[in-house]
Amino acid sequence: MGKVWFVGAGPGDAELITVKGMNLLNQAGAVLYAGSLVSQAVLKWAPEGCEIADSKSMTLEEITAWLIEKAQKHPTVIRLQTGDPGLYGALIEMARPLDEAGVEMAVVPGVSSAFASAAAAGESLTLPEVTQTVILTRTEGRTPMPEGEDLVSLARHHCTLCIFLSISLTDRVQAALGEAGWQEESPILIVQKASWPGEEKILRSNLKDFAEDCREAGIKSQAMIIASPTLGAKDWPSLKGSKLYDASYSHQFRKANA
Ligand code: SAH
Repeated sequence: MGKVWFVGAGPGDAELITVKGMNLLNQAGAVLYAGSLVSQAVLKWAPEGCEIADSKSMTLEEITAWLIEKAQKHPTVIRLQTGDPGLYGALIEMARPLDEAGVEMAVVPGVSSAFASAAAAGESLTLPEVTQTVILTRTEGRTPMPEGEDLVSLARHHCTLCIFLSISLTDRVQAALGEAGWQEESPILIVQKASWPGEEKILRSNLKDFAEDCREAGIKSQAMIIASPTLGAKDWPSLKGSKLYDASYSHQFRKANA
């Protein structure tokens, strides 16, 4: 009996998979990838003769049946997931039937699109004395939000918000942040297809205009919304530095200058 690996493919660029993920793909007998989001480019790490299928139109039962069947034939079977498998990836729902069937499984983390989006724009999600907290969340669509996690409540923290799965719900995001006290001119970053070679779109806007700007730019899917008081900090006239690199600050590896 083989082993099923849930591998984070990263956000799109084939080089943003981990070395471990790439090595596993290299020796895979079968790969099931989420074709609606995973870039086909990542499949180039799979060997010739590897059985490759797209799960785009499969149900959860079909996905797990496929993985279990292939694990009976191949030592290494891969479920390739977009970004990191632990974020909005139905990981547990897929893992449980494997457990029940006695198929061994393991997870390899991936670079989430939240981080790829910040990187694409050269932004930092945290800044000393601005915000030290990042919330990864989504707006309520067909999946209801648990109590206390509605976007208005989360936005009241005024920290960085990486909002997944919400680019078709920009009006709701706007309303929620407004209700939580964010100013109309608060900067908002939208990145579509972060890291996809030749397809990435970066849009810088503000709370008032970003829904309209997305419509104008034709950004309707596969996009991250980042709302953060850190956005644009590269151009600020002054900035509080990190204590770690401050010459007057001692730590385990360095003595402060007199
Ligand atoms: N596990 C994935 C998230 C899957 S949910 C991760 O860690 O990134 C799908 C949502 O992720 C999309 O609606 C979009 O908001 C975001 N997303 C996925 N890939 C993206 C990319 N390359 N650029 C921007 N956003 C992306």
